[in-house]
Amino acid sequence: MISLPTFRDFQELNEASPAELVSGSNRAGRRFVPLRAEYLGLSFRKKELRFAVGKYRLTVAVPALKVVSRLKGSDLDKLSAALGDDVRVHCTCPDFRYGGFQYVGTQLDYSLRTEDRFPSVRNPKEEGTVCKHLTYLLGQLDHYTDDVAADIARSRGTRWYSDVRHANESELPTFNDFVDESGPSPDGWYHGSPSGDLRGGPNGLHVGSKLAATQALESRIGVPADGWWDGKRTYGSTLLAGQRTLARLSKERGYGLVTGYNCGAPQEDYLPKSRKDRAKYGDGTAVEYDARPRVVKVSIVGPMSNSSYSPMEDARANGIMAGMRRRGMARKGYFYTNAGEDEGSVSAVLPDGRHVLVEEV
Ligand SMILES: [Zn+2]
Repeated sequence: MISLPTFRDFQELNEASPAELVSGSNRAGRRFVPLRAEYLGLSFRKKELRFAVGKYRLTVAVPALKVVSRLKGSDLDKLSAALGDDVRVHCTCPDFRYGGFQYVGTQLDYSLRTEDRFPSVRNPKEEGTVCKHLTYLLGQLDHYTDDVAADIARSRGTRWYSDVRHANESELPTFNDFVDESGPSPDGWYHGSPSGDLRGGPNGLHVGSKLAATQALESRIGVPADGWWDGKRTYGSTLLAGQRTLARLSKERGYGLVTGYNCGAPQEDYLPKSRKDRAKYGDGTAVEYDARPRVVKVSIVGPMSNSSYSPMEDARANGIMAGMRRRGMARKGYFYTNAGEDEGSVSAVLPDGRHVLVEEV
């Protein structure tokens, strides 16, 4: 009798490579009929490849894509390298779940979905690794790398999405998505918007750290005397900080709030309607009183001319963008080191709202 690998043989691993999972499987994937897996596509955000084998859906998450995509080389090379590294998997078949593999995979951190119920009836010895569908697929992954790489290439900067409706539907990867994710901005990219839309201004659309986006928005339209622009209140009904409150808040937050629109604020807190000079969008139109200002989290999905790891100078990036836009030539965005808001953090100036996807509103 052959001895099957068990839980303990894999205890050293946190995740497992496709080859390891196949070698540890006690399901005869290769003899499985029909021997046909269909590649369904990839989710770039999640770094997942999706397949169908018969009526079941299989998912292979490839976390290493995030890392290797920053390296030099062709998409195909990067993909092959990533697929040799650890993966997380899931199959919708009953065997994956009830045969104990999802449980074992949870213990060993190679299951995409958690299963904490010990398979006391079906697989009490915790033998094997994955179901026959995954055993088959994981042994054949190199057959699909061309298709996946083609998907990556096809979507590189060619389709942009800007609006919220698309945000949930589309997970199309783009070049920037591939190389940059959220970059050195620790918690992703943000844009401060008076109304939640992404119109930007004549000099493009700016995204940056949450702090930078917040500061830019507050500088443009004023600072709430109490709390934050969270998208829940209308501009016209929000009491704005006057000079007295601005001074106190500047001290509390550790940065100066008397910039931009706030320079002209009255001494005491005030309602926007009481001020003659209206706050304006980047394009010069006045912020509506029923607008709901907010800081939205976005992904950059259009092409960029440089990496966020080698940002340009603030003035240079914005100068180039302004010049490109004037000429109707702005196609790519530029990462730069902030000279103003959240000084020293990395921001990006983008041609317009089509360059980003709204992640959270
Ligand atoms: Zn399966």
